[in-house]
Amino acid sequence: MPRKTQIVVVGGGAGGLELVRRLGAKYGRKHHDIILVEKNRTHIWKPLLHEVAAGSLDANMDEVGYRSHCHRWGYRFFNGQLETVDREARQVILAPLLDEDGSELVGRHAIRFDYLVVAVGSVTNDFGTPGVAEHCMVLDDRAGADRFRNRLLDHCLRVSRAMSNDPGADAHVRIAIVGGGATGVELAAELYNSAAALRHYGLEVFDESRLQICLIEAGPRILPALPERLADAAKAELEALGVTVLTGVQVTEAVPHAILTADGQRFEADLLVWAAGVRAPEWLGALGLEVNRNNQLVVRETLQTTRDERIFAIGDCCAFTPAGADRPVPPRAQAAHQMAATVYRNLIRLQQGRPLEPFVYRDHGSLVSLSRYSTVGSLMGNLVGGRMAIEGRLARLVYTSLYRMHLISIHGWLKGVALLLVGRVNRIIRPRLKLH
Ligand SMILES: Cc1cc2nc3c(=O)[nH]c(=O)nc-3n(C[C@H](O)[C@H](O)[C@H](O)COP(=O)(O)OP(=O)(O)OC[C@H]3O[C@@H](n4cnc5c(N)ncnc54)[C@H](O)[C@@H]3O)c2cc1C
Repeated sequence: MPRKTQIVVVGGGAGGLELVRRLGAKYGRKHHDIILVEKNRTHIWKPLLHEVAAGSLDANMDEVGYRSHCHRWGYRFFNGQLETVDREARQVILAPLLDEDGSELVGRHAIRFDYLVVAVGSVTNDFGTPGVAEHCMVLDDRAGADRFRNRLLDHCLRVSRAMSNDPGADAHVRIAIVGGGATGVELAAELYNSAAALRHYGLEVFDESRLQICLIEAGPRILPALPERLADAAKAELEALGVTVLTGVQVTEAVPHAILTADGQRFEADLLVWAAGVRAPEWLGALGLEVNRNNQLVVRETLQTTRDERIFAIGDCCAFTPAGADRPVPPRAQAAHQMAATVYRNLIRLQQGRPLEPFVYRDHGSLVSLSRYSTVGSLMGNLVGGRMAIEGRLARLVYTSLYRMHLISIHGWLKGVALLLVGRVNRIIRPRLKLH
């Protein structure tokens, strides 16, 4: 029996899951083994994490189980965490898989590859700020979002109790969010949306006026990726909700229940969230491949890593700087999606002995959701004649269509559209908040 061509994709997120779906659908299992290595058992689209954290989205309803997905689309799923890559032997090494009690379920093992695609995403960058790792929560994955939601609900309950025991008590849930990029801004707005709904779910003495959110940004304005007018509109919307937006404030340390700043201020809070940037995981730097100072794997225009043409990298964990540009393509879901499409075609071309195509990033713009209150952003492209600022319903429609496109690209048209319809029904029949 001739050996099957083994394509291993590590990371089943926005880029990796789309890629294995397409490769599995194209090749099946006859002459190929398409293998997904992923540390979690289920996938949730990362741009939804702030909604999971705020409780306005029940991740159980939207997540995709890798085992059933791989069965449907003809790839194999290995649940495990990539530890390192033995480039000489062309093997990825997976760390031992442990159960909840820490007992070993599967020992450390190796998987052979002919081609490897690294799609492990990014983690929050604390820029070495003291105390952040110990005292701040981050929205890197579902576990982090669940942790935040549970603590939020505990504090909401505490405040509700305090207020019903003493109606004169001016109790609040205080939240400090560091980072005025899309994640911080979206989380702040989503929290007001959830708080407004809580009184319908048993916390009678609680509403959005019991929230005190402080958004701290080091740069001169929030949402630096958006045109200034839109960033100002977003800031005005947040302030109207009750968020204190501070710009030009450098955070120097996180301590228990407080954020300290370079100008000597101390922001006390019950919950501290760090959302001030991302970097690729540390261990990528130990693979012997070229990385930049953010640990991202540096790739050529074909998305092959510079030192190993059998290894590709896509999404947040790779650094690709288009010719003439002064910075790499930004870490966004649309970039991961476009890179997955290019690598899919290049893997086919490689096996056909044809030259590989270069990756061309098409920036379709960026959108920031302020929950049900507003959506702001800018669209790019020939269709709109360059860059067009949008706000309100149209922006909301485009924003939600991004997730719809992701669902269709991982499930195909039929199931993707069916899931969208189920989602609409669920919105009517299920509670508005996830309270556990
Ligand atoms: C709250 C929030 C809101 C966002 N909003 C937007 C938005 O509106 N628009 C937008 O374009 N982008 C947004 N982003 C960014 C977007 O989510 C990322 O750019 C995108 O998910 C990157 O895709 P990826 O495939 O590179 O990585 P990911 O989607 O993060 O997937 C990486 C996968 O790799 C797995 N993995 C990691 N390490 C290992 C390992 N060692 N072994 C095995 N598996 C591993 C992870 O479990 C994960 O499943 C947002 C991000 C956040 C956190």
